[in-house]
Amino acid sequence: MVIAGASRVVKYIFVTGGVLSSVGKGILTSSIGKMLQVRGSKVTVIKIDPYVNVDAGTMNPYMHGEVYVTDDGGETDLDLGWYERFLDLNLKKENNLTTGLVYKAVIEKERRGDFLGRCVQIVPHVTNEIKNRIRAVAKDAGADVALTEVGGTVGDIEGQPFLEAIRQMRLEEGPENTLYVHVALVPILDVTKEMKTKPLQHSVNELRRIGIQPDIIVARSPEMIDSESRTKIALFGTIPEDAVFCSYNVETIYQVPLILDEQGMGEFICKRLGFPEHKQDFKEWRKFVDAMLNPEHEVKIALVGKYAGLTDSYVSMNEALRHGGAACKAKVCISHIEAESFEKNPEKLETLKTFDGVFVPYGFGPRGTEGKIMAIEFARENDIPFLGICYGFQLAVIEYARHVCGLDDASSSEINPNSPHPVIDLMPEQRGIEIKGATMRLGSHKIIIEPDTVACALYGSNEVYERHRHRFEVNLDYMQRLKEKGLTFSGKSTDGRRMEILELPDRFFFLASQFHGEFRSRLERPDPEYYGFVRACLDKKLGKSKAEFR
Ligand code: GLN
Repeated sequence: MVIAGASRVVKYIFVTGGVLSSVGKGILTSSIGKMLQVRGSKVTVIKIDPYVNVDAGTMNPYMHGEVYVTDDGGETDLDLGWYERFLDLNLKKENNLTTGLVYKAVIEKERRGDFLGRCVQIVPHVTNEIKNRIRAVAKDAGADVALTEVGGTVGDIEGQPFLEAIRQMRLEEGPENTLYVHVALVPILDVTKEMKTKPLQHSVNELRRIGIQPDIIVARSPEMIDSESRTKIALFGTIPEDAVFCSYNVETIYQVPLILDEQGMGEFICKRLGFPEHKQDFKEWRKFVDAMLNPEHEVKIALVGKYAGLTDSYVSMNEALRHGGAACKAKVCISHIEAESFEKNPEKLETLKTFDGVFVPYGFGPRGTEGKIMAIEFARENDIPFLGICYGFQLAVIEYARHVCGLDDASSSEINPNSPHPVIDLMPEQRGIEIKGATMRLGSHKIIIEPDTVACALYGSNEVYERHRHRFEVNLDYMQRLKEKGLTFSGKSTDGRRMEILELPDRFFFLASQFHGEFRSRLERPDPEYYGFVRACLDKKLGKSKAEFR
């Protein structure tokens, strides 16, 4: 879409939300990106989080959902995960913009004397910082289209400088290069079954009060909106009826770009932005969505975690399991089990026999760790396929040390700082670090995989890059004992000092990794460890022999 010799014109799409949060803005933004991508555009996506935290790294996943990790070690909002999964992008730290980050930069500039003599204000200094950052991301990505999702709801106090910045961008970039999409809930009343557009109308009014007239309105409704609602939304929103679209409930989230495109949204956006006509090519995407919608098998997985009450805490893991399932034509049913329930009630472990696999995810702090260790022991002893990620990997080492190597009090110094056998210990470079923000071992690091192992068969390579987020690691003092008793470390850091993958070759499938494979998993390209796990769960269920993964 670039004309030779001309400087690249970037088109900016801004997505705002109304009525309440969690209306699926992240999925909508990703879907718009997909509709453009399948028509040949190069896209990038920016998430604005108006909270005062500098990044998502210090937030509790139970309240805010998981922390997503980018290749370059950014600890970001989970929506970046949706963008990466839908659009197969590798985003950077800079793709997540927060109030904390923006103000920090402005204040640092003020201290340096960049604004000498002037009074530093929200307009223009903060808004300029926001606009510059959005433009810099677009330029750095070489994008035709930069989508910006504004987190929260229109009307939130924190969001105001960001909305003001995107309002100004229309003036500066021109109406032909900017597009405002507003999405809001259109509920259906339980009793009368009536569709209610009034809350949406109010949120559009709120947006207009700020000076933004939406070009497109998306109604988020349980069902397709009726024509009466569409007319009302168009009339009160001051937009033509063909600029109103509906994101209704679907079986899988990956259908959303398809249902919006069928309503003509992709074409509408392209025309509005002045793109030459391009036929969409959803063939590949549809193939994977169909595989998800028409499974031939089903596998049941027990996710034994600590934040089990909020599925968003494990969203990338859930999706990676589903991607693995789609590749095996299997529907993956995930039950979230509170690890502490096993501590209170050990008989409950028996219920794990009703599952095809046991999965122990990431985690922090001591709560629930004993329950997770019990689940890992149960899976190992009963040969139920097992996958452990990060904390799940570390707890599998502790379990093995305690129950197979005879080190009864083995633990992690994170759980028990006085353990006589800290088989998991703080990484040397972490000692003395007191600041919590962005100080873990983060992002992509190279891993060397041992030949003739399950990991090697799964990854089909002897080196891979995977993303990390941890402070603790396997204590090398215990390596020999663990190895002698049969624990195989099949993946290591390049210097061989850091254990990255473990496996038990005599089990049907028992594998865990210090890194997080879920962050690189895509519907079209499931992550190998998740795929291997789901495949093993299914094969064992079908009575097949151990997979060779070749
Ligand atoms: N708490 C562990 C550590 O910091 C594991 C972290 C994780 O699971 N992401 O090393």
